[in-house]
Amino acid sequence: MTKNAIGIDLGGTYTKLALVDSKGKIKHRSRLSTTDYDSRDSLLEAIACEIRALIQKAGLTPGNIEGIGIGVPGLVDFNRGLVYGLTNVRGWKNTPLKLLLERKLKIPVLVDNDVNIMALGECKFGAGRGARNAVCITLGTGVGGGIIIDGSLYRGATFSAGEVGHMPLKEDGLACNCGGYGCLERYVGNRHIASEMKSAIRAGRAPGVKAMVKGDLSSVTPEIVSKAARKGDKAAIALWEKIGGRIGTTLSGIVNLLNPEMIIIGGGVADAGEPLFRPVRRTVKRRSMRIPGRAVKILKAKLGNDAGMIGAAALFF
Ligand SMILES: [Zn+2]
Repeated sequence: MTKNAIGIDLGGTYTKLALVDSKGKIKHRSRLSTTDYDSRDSLLEAIACEIRALIQKAGLTPGNIEGIGIGVPGLVDFNRGLVYGLTNVRGWKNTPLKLLLERKLKIPVLVDNDVNIMALGECKFGAGRGARNAVCITLGTGVGGGIIIDGSLYRGATFSAGEVGHMPLKEDGLACNCGGYGCLERYVGNRHIASEMKSAIRAGRAPGVKAMVKGDLSSVTPEIVSKAARKGDKAAIALWEKIGGRIGTTLSGIVNLLNPEMIIIGGGVADAGEPLFRPVRRTVKRRSMRIPGRAVKILKAKLGNDAGMIGAAALFF
C-alpha cells in the first residue's frame, strides 16, 4: 500500500508544500510567499494551516500521514530538528522547528538542509532512482552538495557534510564567504561566471555575447552564456569549457574519495547542458582513478523545482 507524507521546501521567496506518496508522486500542492510574513511565528502558523488543508484535500487524516519533512536553506541539527539560521530569511536563529510544528500538528517532523533533501529526492525518485551511492551537487549563486552512502544521507559529525562548493580548488585563491579561500564556489558560482564573461567582453574577446546583451554588461548572466553557447558562440563555449574543467577537477577528487555510482548535477547553471557537461565528464575521466572514473555516471538532475518537496517527503519513505 502506498504511504503519504508532507514535503516542504522552505525558500527565501516561496515556501512550497506538497502531499507526496511513497512512489514520489505529488498528489496535492500549495505555495506561500515567504516574504508575506513579517515574523517566523506567523509563517509557521500559515504553514500549519496549509498542511491541514492538504491533508483534508486528499481525504486523509493526520493519522494517515507518515510525517512532515522540511528542507531549509541553512545549517540544521538534524537529530534535534533545530535550525541554526536561514540564508535570506530573517528571525530564524536557533529555531526548534521540529518541536514547534509537532506541537501544532501532532505529526512527526524531520528537518534537513535543502541540498541534502534535493540529493535524497533525486536518488530515490529522480535521475538517480535506485542508486545506493551517489553525490548530488547544485550549481547556482552558491554551490551545494549532498552525499548518499548505502542509500542514506551522509550528514557528518555536525550535520554539515556535502559542502562541495567549499572544497578547495586552489591552494592560494580568492577569499570565500565561508571563511576559507580558493573554494570551488568562488570559481564556478553565478557571480564568477558572469564576471569572467564581462572581462572577456571588455577585452573584446566575446563580440557575440556583447551583441546579445546590446552592450549592457549588467545583464550578463549564466543564462545568457548558456544561450550564447547553444547558438555556437565561441567565447561562451570556451567559458563553459573552463567552468566545466574546474567542476570536473573537484568531482574527480570526490570520485577517488567516495567511488559513487553517479554524480547528479542540478541548479540553474546545470541548464547550460552539454556545453557544460562535456568538459565535466571529460575532466572526470581524465583526472580520476581509472576504475572508479570509468564507472561513475554524470547526470543532470530531473526533478527540477519539485526536488525539494519530493525529497523532504522522502525522509519518511
Ligand atoms: Zn568557501
